[in-house]
Amino acid sequence: DANAVDSPYDLEGKGKVGCVENDNIGYFTKNKLHVWCRLSNGVWGSGTIRSTSGEESVVTLSNGNVVKVSTSELLPANPGILEGVNDLIQLSYLNEPSLLHNLKHRYSQDMIYSKAGPVLIAVNPFKDVQIYGKDFVTSYRQKATDSSHVFAIADNAYKEMMNDGVNQSIIISGESGAGKTEIAKFAMQYLAALGGGNGGKECEILQTHCILEAFGNAKTSRNDNSSRFGKLTEIRFTTLGKISGAKIQTFLLEKSRVVQLTAGERSYHIFYQLCAGAPPTLRERLNLKTANEYNYLVQSECLVINGVDDAQKFQKLKEALDIVQICKEEQEQAFAMLAAVLWLGNISFQVIDKENHVEASADEALTSAARLMGCAADELMQAISTHRIQAGRDRICEKLTLQQAIDTRDALAKFVYASLFDWLVEQINKSLEGGKKDNGRSISILDIYGFESFKKNNFEQLCVNYANERLQQHFIRHLLKLEQEEYELDGIDWTKVDFEDNQECLDLFEKKPLGLLSLLDEESNLPNSTDFTLANKLRQQLNSNSHFRGDRGRAFGVRHFAGEVLYDTNCFLHKNRDALNPEVVQLLSSCNGQLSQLFAKKMLNQSLESVISLDAPKQTVGAKFKGHLFKLMHQLENTRPHFICCLKPNSKQLPGTFEEDLVLQQLRCYGILEVLRVSRSGYPTRMTHQAFAERYGFLLLETNVSQDPLSISVALLKQFNVPPQMYQIGYSKLFLRTGQISALEDRRKQV
Ligand code: ATP
Ligand code: MG
Repeated sequence: DANAVDSPYDLEGKGKVGCVENDNIGYFTKNKLHVWCRLSNGVWGSGTIRSTSGEESVVTLSNGNVVKVSTSELLPANPGILEGVNDLIQLSYLNEPSLLHNLKHRYSQDMIYSKAGPVLIAVNPFKDVQIYGKDFVTSYRQKATDSSHVFAIADNAYKEMMNDGVNQSIIISGESGAGKTEIAKFAMQYLAALGGGNGGKECEILQTHCILEAFGNAKTSRNDNSSRFGKLTEIRFTTLGKISGAKIQTFLLEKSRVVQLTAGERSYHIFYQLCAGAPPTLRERLNLKTANEYNYLVQSECLVINGVDDAQKFQKLKEALDIVQICKEEQEQAFAMLAAVLWLGNISFQVIDKENHVEASADEALTSAARLMGCAADELMQAISTHRIQAGRDRICEKLTLQQAIDTRDALAKFVYASLFDWLVEQINKSLEGGKKDNGRSISILDIYGFESFKKNNFEQLCVNYANERLQQHFIRHLLKLEQEEYELDGIDWTKVDFEDNQECLDLFEKKPLGLLSLLDEESNLPNSTDFTLANKLRQQLNSNSHFRGDRGRAFGVRHFAGEVLYDTNCFLHKNRDALNPEVVQLLSSCNGQLSQLFAKKMLNQSLESVISLDAPKQTVGAKFKGHLFKLMHQLENTRPHFICCLKPNSKQLPGTFEEDLVLQQLRCYGILEVLRVSRSGYPTRMTHQAFAERYGFLLLETNVSQDPLSISVALLKQFNVPPQMYQIGYSKLFLRTGQISALEDRRKQV
């Protein structure tokens, strides 16, 4: 292992990330060390340098081919002995091709987990890998293995919660289809195994996946089971470490999917499950047809998912609803609301005059929707095809135009669905809440939509990407910034690693009054604003922010941490206002269906709040989302975070296919290389002198040590032969490199 002994590099990783440079190329050539070079097809190839003329080098590739490449682009490869290491931090040379090669090598052997210092990396296998059984739970529980696994992360979180009494969080990131939701489920499965046996709350928690996925997941072009909402699951434990309850918070459900679909995608799974799986008597009561008879569902020409049996899923769903104690009566009411939504989509309108005014057709769709919601057909017709306006002292009833009527009908359908979703989460939470609160601790698991960049990006993407900027900052702060600040504060010797903070991009969104969200709200409150006036305003006000790029017409670009995204302001104002006609709210509150009434009541309470404080108009979707996000960040900041980064190896959802460029893009996006650089040169274990002395002091053999914590600590380090380059002593704390504490811990357990 030539590199390890006589390397031109600083293997401690301070400074150089590793590149072959003029002053050491001779060393590489002489020792026939492997290098990476970028080939003309963009792929990295490894080989040895045969000769070099300064600017250019001739490289013999592993397959025998000889290529001429620019010397400045050569990167050192790692020695064979390091092939497929578990923690990328162990690589002698940290560079992109080395990371990729290592992950790819492991992936080809079904080792989907790796570590990048403190971060767990998971590459989606797109097939069943048998590593989640009871035997695996046991071996991670007993720490019988140290290979990377989501179980190991969950285990750490649990142990740290128990030992240190600190709430923990597991933050899962990755793009759509990378495997966040599956990993979140495995983490909860492990925690349920550890903290179970206290009244069966753990079974309830595991059953909620099935319910929330039915109502909140859908087939998209990227993922057959894509979560269309964000989710934070807080699992609570008693002081003895048993699960006592849980609480689920959801974020920004994609409502538009209920009424509008892209070709090849589906609406929420539950609609297809209900249509396929409802027993005959229920079908009759709901006047339920097959999925292909509903306009909302047929529009995308995609009704089934390969390998998924919707009818069977419906049975599973009903069992899950039973387990979280949603009674049969409530279940039936929920199904009725779903059927009502489907029938709403089939309501058609007839144009009755030259101004394009309409009336709703009095057909089966109208009568069914009305009956299921609990109102009369003509009331429903009235509500979705007219509006009342103030004319002098009188309020007169005016017919809507075709587009207005369709919008009103769709807004009603979206409102009912989103309210149903919220109601369901509330019911689940009631069931999960558990009895009296003791002062136990919790572990929160965050599974939230990843960064999105499509050909056309809309208001939803703006919100999703904004949330990702916030989470990215949390990630950077913890792994990079706070870490380095702590070293400096405690006065230890430290070479700073540069990294890109994303504060300026967050300012672009959040600054008042001149940030994206404030400007959007301002424009949403103006009577004559349009998507074009909004785009103009953004261009005028935001051009000085380097993360903003004005474009033509309705378009504008934002330079996100993960890349630039071009947004189209089409429907921004409409979606941000998310207004519901007063007629529709009125209708719902007069319905005799319990859920209809409940939904209307909630809505009225909200608008009442804005009526009371006159200068605060109804809260916009953007403002609500921001508030929600701030609350989330606040919650996360009060926990000790564990990060999992999910990677998608290909965009076809195929097993055994590892597309280097796609993975590289994701590694860059999450700054994995920087994380590695900081952690390798860092000291992940830190304890105050006091805590260290208290925890290990009794192991001290030497009796002649002065009794202050610092002296005890130093004597201990000496006794355990911890090499001086493996620790630093700060003003208040002891900083140790990875793995150094284990000898002391082992000894402590033996005693
Ligand atoms: P989205 O942001 O769209 O919700 P996601 O990151 O939550 O995406 P998942 O739904 O968890 O992605 O994963 C997509 C699919 O990949 C799963 O339905 C499953 O088929 C497969 N998959 C993910 N993780 C694993 C795993 N650990 N083992 C086997 N298959 C997996
Ligand atoms: Mg998901």
